[in-house]
Amino acid sequence: MRQAGAPPPEPDHYDSLTGLPGRSIFFDRLSQAIAFARRRNRALAILFISLDNLKLINDTLGQRLGDMLLKATAKTIGECLRSSDTVARPGRNEFMILLPEVAAAYDAAVVARKILSVMESPFFVERHDLFLTACIGISAYPDDADKAVNLIKNAYTALQRARTSGGSNYLFYSQDMNTKAFNRMKMENSLRLALRRREFFLHYQPQINLRTGMIIGMEALVRWNKPGVGVVYPNDFIHLMEETGLIIELGEWALREACAQNRKWQQAGLRPVRVSVNLSPRQFQRHDVAKTVSRVLEETALDPAYLELELTENVFMRNTESTIETLKKIRSIGVQLTLDDFGTGFSSLSYLKHLPINRLKIVAPFISPGALSASEEAIARAIVTMAHGLSVGVIAEGVEAIEDLEFIYSLKCDEVQGHIFSHAISVDEMTRALTLEKHFSPTWENH
Ligand code: C2E
Ligand code: CA
Ligand code: CA
Repeated sequence: MRQAGAPPPEPDHYDSLTGLPGRSIFFDRLSQAIAFARRRNRALAILFISLDNLKLINDTLGQRLGDMLLKATAKTIGECLRSSDTVARPGRNEFMILLPEVAAAYDAAVVARKILSVMESPFFVERHDLFLTACIGISAYPDDADKAVNLIKNAYTALQRARTSGGSNYLFYSQDMNTKAFNRMKMENSLRLALRRREFFLHYQPQINLRTGMIIGMEALVRWNKPGVGVVYPNDFIHLMEETGLIIELGEWALREACAQNRKWQQAGLRPVRVSVNLSPRQFQRHDVAKTVSRVLEETALDPAYLELELTENVFMRNTESTIETLKKIRSIGVQLTLDDFGTGFSSLSYLKHLPINRLKIVAPFISPGALSASEEAIARAIVTMAHGLSVGVIAEGVEAIEDLEFIYSLKCDEVQGHIFSHAISVDEMTRALTLEKHFSPTWENH
C-alpha cells in the first residue's frame, strides 16, 4: 500500500485504468519468482494474453466503452487466479500473468482454459453485449527459458502462433508441452464422461485378522472400464481427478456403492464385515464431508460400525484443526477411521495421539524384515507397541512374501491385507469368499 507523502507511482509502474502493475513491476516480480523457483527446484509459468478485437470495439463504439470493457476484463481475469499470482497490463490490448506455483508447467493450461471459458460469455457494458476474443501464449521456467526476458519473449512467440490459428485459444512455447496439455485435456474429458456414463466399478481386497485367519474387512478400490481400452487402475487417473476436483464426485459414488454393497452382503445373511473406502484430501477441503457420510449411511441403511474411511497424512497438511474436527464428527457417527500409507509420508508418532483414528495402516516395504536394519526393526516394533498403547489397531498392507507375514505376525500387527492372501476381487468373487467362510468356519459367530 502507498504511504502518505510517498511520491505517486511512475506511469509505467501501475496502469491508471485498471490499477494493475505495468511492465516493469511484472518484470521484477518474474525475476524474483525465477530466483525463488531456482532455489526450490520448482516450475513457474507465464501467460501472455492479447485481446484481439478490442481495437474494433474502440473504433466502432468509442474509447470510453473500450476502457470500461478493459476494466471488466481485468477484473474477470483476476477472478480466475490465486492470490499469489500476478496479473499485469503491459500494453493497451495485453495482459500478462505470472503463475509462481505450478506443480508442472502444463498446469498453466488449466488457468488458460479457465480464462478463455469465462471470456466466452459476453461482457455487458452500457446496454451492449460485447464479445472479446483472446489468445494466450504460455512459456515456462525452467523448460523454455531461465531468464525473465527470454521467458517473456517465448510467451510472446507462443502468443503469435496462437493468434495465427484463429479464434480464442492458447498455445505453449514448447511443442512437447502442447502435446502434454492436449493429452491431459483429453484424459480429463474422458474422466468426466466416464463419471456420467458410469464406467467406474469397485473391487474389494480382503483384510484378514491375524489371530483368527478370518476376513474382517475389505478395502474398496476403484477401477475404470475404459471403452476400447479395458480396465484402467487408479494410479493412472486418481491424480488427475484429484487435481481437477472430479474426485469429489467419484469419492461420493465409491462411498455409496461400497456401503450399498456391504449392506447387500449382510442382507444375504453373510457375516458382517467392515468395508473401507479411501477418502482423498480434496474431499476434506469441503466442509460437508461428515454430512455426506451420514447421508450415504442413511440412504444405504448400513450400520456405521461396518464402514471405515481411509485417509492419508496429507489431509492434515492444510487446516489441521478443522480436519481433526471433521474427523471427530465422523467418528461420532460410529464410523471407523484408518490412517493409510503410514510410513511413506512425514509419519511422526508424536502427533498420532492427537488424531481420532482407530487404525494405522503400514505399508509392507516399511516393515519388511529384509529391508530393515536392526534399529529400523526396533522402530517398527515401537510403532506397533505405541499404537496399541493408544488403543489404535495396526494393519499391514501390500504383504506379498511369507517372510514378511512371519515378521508382521511377530510384531503383533492385528490385521493384514495383500497379495499373499488375495488381490482385490470382484463382487461375485467376494460373495463366494464370504460364503465359503460361512460354510467352513462354523465358529465364526464367536469372532
Ligand atoms: P492404496 O489406498 O494404498 O491401496 C492399496 C493399493 O495397493 C491398491 O492398488 C492395491 O491393489 C495394491 N495392493 C494390495 N495388495 C498389494 C500387494 O500385496 N502388493 C502390491 N504391490 N500392491 C498391493 P490400486 O487398487 O491400484 O489403488 C491405488 C491407489 O489408488 C490406492 O492406494 C488409493 O490411493 C487410490 N484409490 C483407489 N481407489 C480409490 C477411491 O475410491 N478413492 C480414492 N480417493 N482413492 C482411491
Ligand atoms: Ca487405502
Ligand atoms: Ca495404502
